[in-house]
Amino acid sequence: MPDARNWFEPLPEYRRRRFPACRREGIELCLEDGRRLINFAGNDYLGLSTHEAVCMGARGALGEAVGSGASRLVSGDDPLMHRLEAKLARWKGFESCLLVGSGMLANIGLLQALAGRHDHIFADRLNHASLVDGARLSGASLHRFHHLDMAQLAGLLVRHPAERRMIVSDGVFSMDGDCANIPALLALAEAHDTLLVVDDAHGTGTLGRDGRGLTALHGVAGHPRLIEVGTFGKAFGGYGAFILGPAELIDGLRQRQRTMIYSTALPVAVIAAAETALALIERGEQVQQLHRQLARFRAGIGGLGFMPSETAIQPLLIGEDAAALAMSARLAEAGFFVPAIRPPTVPEGTSRLRITLSAAHTDEQIDGLIAALKSAMEHGDG
Ligand SMILES: *Cc1c(COP(=O)(O)O)cnc(C)c1O
Repeated sequence: MPDARNWFEPLPEYRRRRFPACRREGIELCLEDGRRLINFAGNDYLGLSTHEAVCMGARGALGEAVGSGASRLVSGDDPLMHRLEAKLARWKGFESCLLVGSGMLANIGLLQALAGRHDHIFADRLNHASLVDGARLSGASLHRFHHLDMAQLAGLLVRHPAERRMIVSDGVFSMDGDCANIPALLALAEAHDTLLVVDDAHGTGTLGRDGRGLTALHGVAGHPRLIEVGTFGKAFGGYGAFILGPAELIDGLRQRQRTMIYSTALPVAVIAAAETALALIERGEQVQQLHRQLARFRAGIGGLGFMPSETAIQPLLIGEDAAALAMSARLAEAGFFVPAIRPPTVPEGTSRLRITLSAAHTDEQIDGLIAALKSAMEHGDG
């Protein structure tokens, strides 16, 4: 019998995930070996994680306490949390909102609360791991459809009738940067009498002129069949997450969602930072700057073979692991941090460079990355 030292089979070196230690200074990453690279790998799309006002918001709340001391159910329920929930619901266009510790916890707890053994979940194959895990934990029958394949989804809905069913999808897909077909998903949910759960972790704060995300962009926020998840970990530049839906649904989750009830409430400083971030997003300066930088990038990468994406996630499909790693290393030599995303995060043979843009990137940094990409491609790594 193995003990705790040899419990896990060792992984081959090329398959090991890497956790490069780095300190962030604004949009720059300071690596342990002394290199400073421009960060094109964060989800801090608006630069709010290091924004002065957001940091000040957190610091102000830190004067009183660090931890919230208990679950919200017991004594960790601060009035600031209720105020932020109300503001988020109004901003997103939903009746009600529930804060949760993180996007991972939100999705795991949400699907576990919504579905049970006799229910059916229909999920896009490229959904985030948290949605896959939540579906498994719920005990519901899980049917996965090919990425964005609405015809296959319609077929599955016909073949698996049941009283309580839900379609579950990422809004913006995190590794491909493309978007769910929200109108088609909602039409199917209505036609087949199911719920629709949309996790718009990457669209929240980035999509639409006002940054309200994919469902607002399509004018369906607040629809009675729709439940949405958002996170503070990305465009909000902080940590934590929230679930939106009809008031009765959110109240039901408050009573049932285990990842919220049995977990310590978010620190108040984190809530204060999110509230400041929301005010900045509503003012719109950073959202508009992100859209300008995205247009600049897309205009410069013609012919380089980027995947079609209108979001801040811009993947360049390479194929083999080794080639993607070599491209990434060449970009690092030129001063840019762009990681190679490899299996098992993405399917075998689809290793890629995943570039993410931020309002904090300067024009020079974006033009510099495009020039470095062109030069790296000429060296044959692509
Ligand atoms: C990042 C992400 C999550 C997890 O959110 P955290 O707040 O980082 O735990 C969930 N869903 C999607 C689609 C994501 O991209």
